[in-house]
Amino acid sequence: MPELDRMDGGPRSVIVIGAGVVGLSTAWFLQERGVRVTVVDRDGIAAGASWGNAGWLSPGLAIPLNEPGVLRYGVRTLLDRQAPLHVPATPDPRLWAFLARFAAHCTGKSWRRAVQANLPLNAECLEAFDVLTANGIDAPTIDAPITAVFETAQHAAGLLAELRRMGEAGQEISYTGLTGADLAKRFPQVDARNGAGVRIDGQRYVDPGRFVESLARSVVSRGATIRHRFAVTSVRRHPHAVTVQSAAGRTLSAHAVVLATGAWLGELGKGFGVTVPVRAGRGYSFTVPTDRPVPGPIYLPDIRVACTPYRSGLRVAGTMEFRKPDEPLDAARVEAIVASTRPLLKGIRWDERTDVWVGSRPVTTDGRPVIGAAGAPGLFVAGGHGMWGLTHGPVTGRLLAEHITTGKQPEALRPFDPLR
Ligand SMILES: Cc1cc2nc3c(=O)[nH]c(=O)nc-3n(C[C@H](O)[C@H](O)[C@H](O)COP(=O)(O)OP(=O)(O)OC[C@H]3O[C@@H](n4cnc5c(N)ncnc54)[C@H](O)[C@@H]3O)c2cc1C
Repeated sequence: MPELDRMDGGPRSVIVIGAGVVGLSTAWFLQERGVRVTVVDRDGIAAGASWGNAGWLSPGLAIPLNEPGVLRYGVRTLLDRQAPLHVPATPDPRLWAFLARFAAHCTGKSWRRAVQANLPLNAECLEAFDVLTANGIDAPTIDAPITAVFETAQHAAGLLAELRRMGEAGQEISYTGLTGADLAKRFPQVDARNGAGVRIDGQRYVDPGRFVESLARSVVSRGATIRHRFAVTSVRRHPHAVTVQSAAGRTLSAHAVVLATGAWLGELGKGFGVTVPVRAGRGYSFTVPTDRPVPGPIYLPDIRVACTPYRSGLRVAGTMEFRKPDEPLDAARVEAIVASTRPLLKGIRWDERTDVWVGSRPVTTDGRPVIGAAGAPGLFVAGGHGMWGLTHGPVTGRLLAEHITTGKQPEALRPFDPLR
C-alpha cells in the first residue's frame, strides 16, 4: 500500500479504471503533472466505445442529447426495431426510471444548460488533441468540414434551427447552406436525390482506434503500467490510500482512483456516490469500400447516420439503442443502417462490409458528463460524455488532472460535478 508521500497539492500515484479515450487521456495528463499511473481495464485498450465510433472531433456539432425534439422523436419511434433510436420492450424498471429522468431533462432550459456547460470543453478540445499529437500520439487529426446532406432544403430546417440555437447559447459555429450541385461537385458519393446540404466548418476527424492505441503506447512509454483483463469489482478507501480489487481477487493500491468506465460507470459509480445515472446508448458501425475516395465526413441527419473516411474506405455509424452494454451485437440493426443509407449514397460496396462493431455511448440523464471529485477523498470520476466522448476525451483528461493534482475544481468542471 502506498505511503502517505504526497506531492504538494496532490496524490503521487493514481489508478485509472478504464482504458478508453477518457481514462487514457486522464492518465497522460496526470503523467504531465508528475503522477505515477496504473491503468486497468476489464478487457483491453479501446475495448469500449472508443474504438468503432465515427471519429468526429466536432465542437460545433457537440449537441447534447437531451433536446426536446429527441423526446418527440423517441416517443414516435419507441419500440420500432428499424428506427435509429430504439428502446427494447423490456420490463427493466431501472431502464424505464432512467428514461423517465432523461425525458424530464428534454426541455429547452436543461438542454441550454448542457450546451453552455460544454462551451469551455468545446473551446479547448481541439487544442487538447494538438497537445497529444505534438507529443508523439501517432494519429493525425484531419481538418475537414462535416457536410450534412438532405433530400430537400426543407429537410435541412431542423438542423439549421439546432445550429442556430447552439449559436444563441454561445457556441461559436460557422456553417453554410449548399445546393445539390455543390454537393455533387464535392462528393462523388452523394446521390442526385439529395438536393441540399449544410457545411459545418472548423471540425476534424481522426481514426479513433489508432488514436487511443497510440495514446496507450505513449502512456506506457512514460512509465505507466496497463493491466489488461483486470475487471474491477470493488474500490475501498483506507486512511492514506485506495485499493481496487479485480474479479480474480487481485488488488492494487494508489493514493487516488479515477473511475473512467464509460457506459459501465453506473455500477461502481454508486459506491463513489455518483448521483447522475449513466446508461448505455448503443451504436453500431462498419467499414465499406468505396469506388472513389471520400473527401470528408458526411452526416445524414434524417436517418441519424455519420459517415467518415476511414483507411481507404468509409466508416458508417449510427443508431442509439438502450440495451445493456454487454448484450450481443444485433445484426438487424446493421441491416437497418445499410437499408436506410444505401439509397442516399452511391459508389459504395455495401456487401463487402468489414469491422462490424457495436459500442456503448455513456449517456447521462441531463446531457452533461460527470467529471470531478466523487463522494470521498481520493475518488474521482470521468465519463458520461454520451455522443461526444471522443471529442471531449483529451480536454476532460487535462482538466481532471488539474483538479486531482491541485485539489481545486477548475471552473470549467463545475457543471459536471458527479455529485450534482
Ligand atoms: C456509433 C458511435 C459513434 C460515435 N461517434 C462519435 C464521434 O464521432 N465523436 C465523438 O466525440 N464521440 C463519438 N461517440 C461517443 C464516444 O465513442 C464515447 O463517448 C467515448 O468513446 C467514451 O469514452 P470512455 O473512455 O468514457 O468509454 P469507453 O471507451 O467505453 O471505455 C470504458 C472502458 O472501461 C472498461 N471497463 C468497464 N468496466 C470496467 C471495470 N469494472 N473494470 C475495469 N475496466 C472496466 C471497458 O472495458 C472500456 O475499455 C460515438 C459512439 C458510438 C457508439
